[in-house]
Amino acid sequence: MSTPALMPVYPRCGVRPVRGEGCYLIGEQGERYLDFAAGIAVNALGHGHPKLVQAIADQAATLMHVSNLYGSPQGEHLAQRIVDSSFADTVFFTNSGTEAVECAIKTARRYHYANGNPQRTTLITFNNAFHGRTMGAISATNQPKMRDGFEPLLPGFKYAPFNDLDAALALIDDTTAGFMVETIQGEGGVSAGTQAFIQGLRKACDEHGLLLVLDEVQCGYGRTGKMWAYEHYGITPDILSSAKGIGAGFPLGACLATAEAAKGMVFGTHGSTYGGNPLAMAAGEAVLDVMLEPGFFDHVTAMGDRLRASIEQMIPNHDHLFDSIRGMGLMLGIKLKDAAVARDFVGHLRDHHGLLTVAAGENVVRVLPPLVIEESHIAEFVQKLSDGARDYAVATA
Ligand SMILES: *Cc1c(COP(=O)(O)O)cnc(C)c1O
Repeated sequence: MSTPALMPVYPRCGVRPVRGEGCYLIGEQGERYLDFAAGIAVNALGHGHPKLVQAIADQAATLMHVSNLYGSPQGEHLAQRIVDSSFADTVFFTNSGTEAVECAIKTARRYHYANGNPQRTTLITFNNAFHGRTMGAISATNQPKMRDGFEPLLPGFKYAPFNDLDAALALIDDTTAGFMVETIQGEGGVSAGTQAFIQGLRKACDEHGLLLVLDEVQCGYGRTGKMWAYEHYGITPDILSSAKGIGAGFPLGACLATAEAAKGMVFGTHGSTYGGNPLAMAAGEAVLDVMLEPGFFDHVTAMGDRLRASIEQMIPNHDHLFDSIRGMGLMLGIKLKDAAVARDFVGHLRDHHGLLTVAAGENVVRVLPPLVIEESHIAEFVQKLSDGARDYAVATA
């Protein structure tokens, strides 16, 4: 048996994109797809956004990479803009979400170490969480499908059911460093933390001297109609991991922290060869330029409301298939009835209707379009979804 040159860790489908145009992907044979997956919440500006493309091209020709041994006017500038747009005082740039999570874990542990509490190493995390694929990140989730065969994992994690505040509080002991939680679970099935849950974790952190680490790799950066998902909860975290939309397709992530939470992260404690290089910073600046234009977040909210209402209206017509709609802004999930399988229905929409969505846990079809969609894309999506629901029903009847 021959092993493919590309390590076969993904069950890749038949879509083989070679070009992108706005909210559409074009495959090898010229076939067109309406892209409501957006690289799993990455392509916030769609494909080929002129400002992002120009910024990357210009910077590539000027200066692509230098070592972090040198001063970084580009990094200082983007970090300051992110600080000005968030709870944070300081930012570490990474190349991916899982590295941002890794930095968050290290920052949390190091805080307690710097405070003279080196025994406070345990982060309480949550069932169905997804934090990425490094050893630290898979240790922070209790899902066997990501952990099996990779033991021994990083010690120092305890798991509670998501949205169960009492269960989380019951796990606090002398070794607790804090909580790490997705404000809105993405891979787990587009489950938003409840107000009482997220606010309760914040309160417990304040009372016990713990850190609240939010993983907003998927739900942050404009996706929910606000810059950060935590803004919906009236709280701020101590540490936050960001990625996906932050580079809108350029590999970029960030770990944000307050000055207090980051106090252990001194010279020599962390690093990255590529992290925050000038090319990545140029991409990040372009994304932020577009997102901070007046009206951008309002547009996301308006499109999200419209998309949600359209899907909601459709549910009674296909109530053998659709159960309910969940999520915020343009991070939406359609929960299917138990008789259907999200992965199959996503495949059906893709193969028969040229519509890209993503399956998630809890039998949910994730709807994650570019944040720059217009009403015409929503109309096209609704048509494809309802056609797909109708002939999927026939096909499975
Ligand atoms: C995607 C994701 C990650 C991992 O990001 P990578 O860039 O794939 O490493 C971490 N946390 C959450 C919430 C995510 O959705």
